[in-house]
Amino acid sequence: MTNVDGDTPFEELPVTLLPGIGPSRSKLLAQLGIVTILDVLLYFPFRYETPYDEAAALLDGQKVTVYAEVIGAPSVRFTQAKSMVTIPVRVADRRLKAIFFNQPYIRHQATKQRIMMITGRFQARYGTIQVVSYEFPHEKKLGELAPVYRVTQNLSTVNLRKMVDQALSMYRERIVDWMPVSLLEKYKLVSKVRAIEMMHHPRDEHDVHQAKRRLIFEEFLLFQLKLQARRLTQQDHEKSRLRVDEVNVLAQEWIQTLPFALTMDQQKAIDDIVDDVCRTAPMYRLLQGDVGSGKTAVIFAMVAALAKLGLQSVIMAPTSILASQHFEEAKKRLTPFGVSVQLLLGGAKNKKWIEESVAKGDADVVIGTHALLSENLIFSTLRFVVIDEQHRFGVSARRALRSKGSHGVDVLHVTATPIPRSLALTLYGDIEVTEIKTKPIGRQPITTCSLTFKDEEKVIQAIRGELVKGRQAYIVAPRIESDEWDAEAISVTRLQAQLQESFDFWQVGLLHGQMKEVDRQEAMKSFVEGKTQVLVATSIIEVGVNVPNATVMAIYEADRFGLATLHQLRGRVGRSSYPSFCYLLADPKSEMAIERLTAMVQSQDGFELASKDLQLRGPGEAFGDRQSGLPVFHVGDPIRDLRIMEVAREVAVKLLKTGDLFFLPAYQALYAHIRDAIETLADS
Ligand code: ADP
Ligand code: MG
Repeated sequence: MTNVDGDTPFEELPVTLLPGIGPSRSKLLAQLGIVTILDVLLYFPFRYETPYDEAAALLDGQKVTVYAEVIGAPSVRFTQAKSMVTIPVRVADRRLKAIFFNQPYIRHQATKQRIMMITGRFQARYGTIQVVSYEFPHEKKLGELAPVYRVTQNLSTVNLRKMVDQALSMYRERIVDWMPVSLLEKYKLVSKVRAIEMMHHPRDEHDVHQAKRRLIFEEFLLFQLKLQARRLTQQDHEKSRLRVDEVNVLAQEWIQTLPFALTMDQQKAIDDIVDDVCRTAPMYRLLQGDVGSGKTAVIFAMVAALAKLGLQSVIMAPTSILASQHFEEAKKRLTPFGVSVQLLLGGAKNKKWIEESVAKGDADVVIGTHALLSENLIFSTLRFVVIDEQHRFGVSARRALRSKGSHGVDVLHVTATPIPRSLALTLYGDIEVTEIKTKPIGRQPITTCSLTFKDEEKVIQAIRGELVKGRQAYIVAPRIESDEWDAEAISVTRLQAQLQESFDFWQVGLLHGQMKEVDRQEAMKSFVEGKTQVLVATSIIEVGVNVPNATVMAIYEADRFGLATLHQLRGRVGRSSYPSFCYLLADPKSEMAIERLTAMVQSQDGFELASKDLQLRGPGEAFGDRQSGLPVFHVGDPIRDLRIMEVAREVAVKLLKTGDLFFLPAYQALYAHIRDAIETLADS
């Protein structure tokens, strides 16, 4: 028995307080993430079984779950070491026999009129159900939905049902409802206890819906309160004043140095950003633009103008390859304009020196990876924070970078993975969104073909055709090494060796995530400089890599990549005025994979593909954490439940603005729950 003193808050009561939960059980439960009693209560079923109400619904030969009322005395047969118990039961309006093998004790439990819930195979011919599992539900009415939980080995759904019911009966009055009654009434929400009960024991689908509505609203409201509170505390920092015309002139001066004219959308994006930067409130903007739409020029225009005004910028990219590439581009385009540029990567030897030049204000812009978050990096006049491919970073990384300004800073999030505007608004608070929709003129569409492996040779020929013209090629494959047990499996290491042989005149480079940092840099550099003409890589090159001379890409086992990744990968070609090609090689096995490949052939529009992806995979996955960094909720899904999120946002804004949250007694419990989170924010 676990010792817990009476003052232990409910959330901390361990699961071992429940009868029958000892050390071994609790270990199993921990694998499911269940440590406390509250965890048990919040461990919701992932689906429900519908015990059949109508006997007609029983399908011959199928596994069924039904409520069965015992209507006669059990009979037992023993043969050798085995036993068979037959119990006459009524299922809905039908008389059947439930058969139990090797469970002789069941005959003592199955007293007349008792209700059992049984799962087993139904055989119409004999009118029998051969039972594989059963339980005696207490106070369960016919027609209720039976919860089914995700379980591990040695722990069954029946075990969990029992635990949940125990937890509910022992601790239901200790469940705290933070939600003020006024909100419950206004939005017709059930109480927390009721919602939890209904999740585990709904009478029907409507109950499940009501329960979820309540729980989702609660988690979204907490999320929005923290988010909005963060926004409020941020606005306290005033920025130094800048004049729009002055900044504009400087930005235009830099733009004149470019070898190309900006697209309308690029210019519009710069205008938006300049306006924001010159306001007193900090900028908080999301720049969305498909791969190759020219987002870098937009960022650099701002960096250049601010540098001339003595204000510093920082650009954080998710990989060192990408950071280095930005750095090379910056040296080419910003240094001649008189902007001093520094690169800061994880293992940098000259770190101290860079830190000094940033602290003194000698460096105008620092480009780097996570290494930028180091406490030793202190800016003298940081104004502009750019987070490239922002979905690759967590909230805390983004916040840490922002907090490096001693005055208010302007934050620009950049992404090539578009999310719907309404969603961006609700998830990032009051973020403004700028979209670059058009690509630079003169871009040729990328001819995309989906082929099976028997056409591999044709693809190699096509690549050779481009190499002959002096262009370069990417070859992408999902694996790094071939498996031990499958030497034939396609991997980048094997492909590189093979291709080096068949492309004898050309150099074939290799790039993957398990290579050492220096080797990766070197491989990328050789490709950028044209020393290697072919680069075999994993999807590590997915984001941002820019080598305009590369005009052809072949993706091996393209069916193993998601749509968003495929689109990002393809975006590595088609970055010049040469025609480009993308070959998708696969022997797809699923309908979904075929649809993805077809979508790739049919569309080159990132927004269109993103919505196709949504449609194919469902919201949760398409915007799964790696892709978008969207917060993950326990019950809610920010895309599916967008409407609830919007309401939660309105409520949160109002509670904070009016101060009701802080002062009204009805909101005490809610405030107490998020006070810590809000206060830490205010300190940071
Ligand atoms: P992304 O939006 O994917 O980050 P980049 O900023 O890397 O795209 O730009 C892709 C390529 O297009 C770069 O080589 C860049 O120099 C070029 N580019 C950007 N804007 C224009 C433009 N307006 N006209 C022609 N080329 C452009
Ligand atoms: Mg980019």
